[in-house]
Amino acid sequence: MKKLVCAGEILVEIMAERIGQSFRAPGPLVGPFPSGAPAIFVDQAARLGQPAGLIAAVGDDDFGHLNIERLRADGADISAITVHQGAATGTAFVTYESDGSRHFVYNIKQSAAGLIEMGAEARALLAGADHFHVMGTSLFSPEVIEIARNGIEAVKMRGGTVSFDPNIRKEMLDLPGMRDALLFVLSKADVFLPSGPELFTFAEANDEESAVREMLDRGISTIVVKKGAQGAVHYDQSGRTASPGFVVEEIDPTGAGDCFTAAFVSFWLRGEAPERALRIANGCGALAVTKKGPMEGIASLAAVEAFIETARTGAPA
Ligand code: ATP
Ligand code: MG
Repeated sequence: MKKLVCAGEILVEIMAERIGQSFRAPGPLVGPFPSGAPAIFVDQAARLGQPAGLIAAVGDDDFGHLNIERLRADGADISAITVHQGAATGTAFVTYESDGSRHFVYNIKQSAAGLIEMGAEARALLAGADHFHVMGTSLFSPEVIEIARNGIEAVKMRGGTVSFDPNIRKEMLDLPGMRDALLFVLSKADVFLPSGPELFTFAEANDEESAVREMLDRGISTIVVKKGAQGAVHYDQSGRTASPGFVVEEIDPTGAGDCFTAAFVSFWLRGEAPERALRIANGCGALAVTKKGPMEGIASLAAVEAFIETARTGAPA
């Protein structure tokens, strides 16, 4: 089976317990939960049986070891996660507003996550990789952008493939080097997985079909647009395939996109038809939102298949 690798931030997430709770006053919190988009992605892929490894850095603290142990238990290759003495693992504190929006207090760049490097273990991991996945959230400094470039070049040199989940807020586009980095990643991507309006960040067009056409014309072979509870739509040169989401009670949406992406990419690497890859991915995304904590809803392939058997689908996108 093909091996995929991702590089980027490992975090713990600590959540306000009540909707609408403000971080400008003391209040109850839950967590720490293992987190970080690349970690969620690699963990979900590994749980589906895909060989998957992560290049990352944590501090030598409980938050770091919590993440490493979860990834190890779920079958991920943790050989390229370095543990730094004297640096703290990254954190994200999140509070949910009553309209469903989220407010974050991050410590990523200045945490151990900012110490990620292309060391001997990372190079060894890439030497055995068939696929490299880039998370937009991980392109937060020139150093991490360089890691992504290295990862892409290493797998492309071996005839491998690249996927890209932009996962960015518009404000991030103005960070130094960000726009160029994103355009570089896009120019190398085989699979592009924006969620909703992220598709339009890189296209001139204002409607989905034309924006997709622009991206296909740039040489991206597969585009999957994630649409929350409505599921997702797949596009390639042969057309459009929509797949509805599954009806679940949404407890915590964070991480759904990363779980979806991991599942889709894993099944794409296995050469599965878009219908099946989308169905499994929608199943993983739906299960992800049913639990508090971005990695707590991650399920094995058997569990996802059992869920899909009995779950109801909503209206198609
Ligand atoms: P994230 O918050 O992780 O960044 P995202 O914005 O990248 O998520 P979404 O489109 O919100 O991505 O969700 C990804 C996938 O997860 C959807 O395509 C769908 O399969 C599933 N999903 C998300 N929310 C729900 C929901 N409320 N009910 C069912 N499935 C959902
Ligand atoms: Mg997303």
